[in-house]
Order: sequence, then C-alpha cells, then structure tokens
Amino acid sequence: MILLNPGPVNLSDRTRNALLRPDLCHREVEFTELQTTIREKLLKVYELESDRFAAVLLTGSGTAAMEAMIASLVPRNGKLLVIENGVYGERLSKIAKIHGIDYLTLNHSWGTEINLQDLVKLLDDNNDITHLAVVHHETTTGRLNNLAELAPICQERNIQLLVDTVSSFGGEELNFASWGITACAATANKCLHSIPGTSFVIVQREALLSADTAPRTLYLDLATYCREQDQGGTPFTQSVQAFYALAEALSELEEIGGWRARHNYYHELASLVRNGLVAMGIKPLLPPEGSSVVLNAYYLPEGLSYEKFHDELKAQGFVIYAGQGELAKSIFRVSTMGAIAHTDMERFLAVIKHVILT
Ligand SMILES: *Cc1c(COP(=O)(O)O)cnc(C)c1O
Repeated sequence: MILLNPGPVNLSDRTRNALLRPDLCHREVEFTELQTTIREKLLKVYELESDRFAAVLLTGSGTAAMEAMIASLVPRNGKLLVIENGVYGERLSKIAKIHGIDYLTLNHSWGTEINLQDLVKLLDDNNDITHLAVVHHETTTGRLNNLAELAPICQERNIQLLVDTVSSFGGEELNFASWGITACAATANKCLHSIPGTSFVIVQREALLSADTAPRTLYLDLATYCREQDQGGTPFTQSVQAFYALAEALSELEEIGGWRARHNYYHELASLVRNGLVAMGIKPLLPPEGSSVVLNAYYLPEGLSYEKFHDELKAQGFVIYAGQGELAKSIFRVSTMGAIAHTDMERFLAVIKHVILT
C-alpha cells in the first residue's frame, strides 16, 4: 500500500529493520548513546549549534510537541499571538486556551495567505505580546506560510517565534539564524520518514532557561526533559524502538544529502502529480508558489464523492487523504512524504485516469 496521507509514511527497509534491534532498558548506557545520537542528528539537519540549541525528545505524536512548546515556553507573564489559517493553527490556540495562557488570535479562512498588514496592526495595537505561534506548513491545505516575511516583523519587536514545523521539518527550508526561530515542534513520522511515537522540540537554550520557573504541565515540560536529556537520562520511559527507527531514518536523510535533497525529491514528485492531475482536468486548491512540496490539495474530480474516489484508489493500492471540516466535501490531499518512487506516482496517475474514465 502506498501511503499518500501526510504521515505516518511508508518506511524504507532499513528504517523498518531498525525496529528489530536488541531490547533496551531506558536507564542503561546504550539508551543514553541512542538518545544523544538522535539529539545531535536532529540539530545537524539544519546545521544548528548544540551550545545555542537543544533538541528535546518526547514520546508522543506531533501534537505532544506542539503542546510542550506552547505550554513550556510562554511564561506566565507572557502574551501569545496565534496566527490561524488552518486546522493546526487553530489547534495551537486550543492548546493556549487549555493551559490558561493569555493569547490573541489572528484568524484567516483556511488556505488564505497570512495578511501581514493585519498582523502588524494587531501587534502595534497590542504591544504586550511576547510570543507568536504559527504553523509553517499548514497541512490542512498545503499552504506553506512565508516565515521569511513574517520573521522580521517579530524580530523588530523582540517577539519570540514558535513554529509548528510538524509537516515541514526535514523537507522544507527552515532558516533558524535569519528568521530568529525560538523553537519549533516536529515529529519523526512525517518528512523524517520514521515511525510514529517520537516527536521533538528544537529550542534555543536561552529561551528554555528563562521559562524554567513554574511548569504548567508535568509530562510535557520541556525544561525537565532537556535537563535530564543533557545528562543522558529521561524523566519518563521513551519509545525505545521508535528511537532506533528515528536514528536510522536520520542517517538515511544525511546520506541522501540532507533536507535539500529531500526537498528536491519531493518537488519532483509533487510536480509530477500536479502536472498529471491538471492534464486530467483536476484543479489544485493553491498555486505552486504558495504550496509546500510536501503535500498538495486538489478539488475532487467532478461527479465523484471523496468516499468513492478513496475506495477505488485504495483497492488499487493507494491511500489518499480527505479534506478536513468544510473542505471534506470538495478536496482530496496527496502527500509526497515517505519511501515513494517516481514509478509509484506514475502508477497513481494511471490509476486515477482509469477511475475517472470508468
Ligand atoms: C500532522 C500534523 C500535526 C500533528 O499531528 P499528530 O497527529 O499529533 O502527529 C501538527 N501540525 C501539523 C502542521 C501537522 O501536519
């Protein structure tokens, strides 16, 4: 089965086989080595220095990392602005609300580009905002939010930038230095091509120090994790076998040439699919300029319900992904993450052509 949903992804054989390595106690030196290796490799993906940044590993899905980032880094006297233009931006707001964080939202309809004029106005009207949270790649629609344009607005005002990079880390550009990213939350099972179970936050060590006062959460407190992981330990049991797989998937990423090579490969696959679908009269939701290479959304072929389309493709070995909310009736999504070959995508297009014509 070829998974075209945005994670979990198809694994390479080497990553799958890594799951079968020896049983391990999470209080032994072998685990410490494994954990330290992963933390170093994660920083290397975007060439970050370990004295300035820490990769903090959590056992949980991507949402655990989002929640850890927001709940641990916005101090009690801080104020958060959340930019929303899809499901995951709205999830960041829900997290802020649940943890009793003082927050405002800048809401856009799903898929819309962030309105920077509105953002500047809101920040000027609320000069007590200390943190801004935004989704990099809004998987709801495939929109890649433009952090290069947004970051200077935060930097000019000394606002800390917290980014959900769950579906972009490892597959899209993340310029930590020039964008001044304070922290980003991500997961093993999207662009890094490993299994679900491990997620992580990459955070400026300085931000972690200043937030380390009275934690809002026991299980998701980044400062606690970071302190123990720096000493080779872990506060709670980690997903040991998932760590094996993640270490292997990170080695594989390194060997193919890092995030740029993966990005270029996704770009090839995404263009192949886009051109093929457009030739069949299937329209993309967004133009390529505003889209990621990780996932693209398309309007359903005329006269076909999502369910019927999905089931016919699944019967031929392809799992596509439905739209969320209002978009459920009108779109389908195709991701390029995971161990997918050009020939898989060519066959996918051939199958769609057959489904549409019959
Ligand atoms: C997948 C995803 C998440 C997290 O989803 P989980 O199901 O918790 O792994 C968060 N943000 C974005 C942008 C995502 O694509």
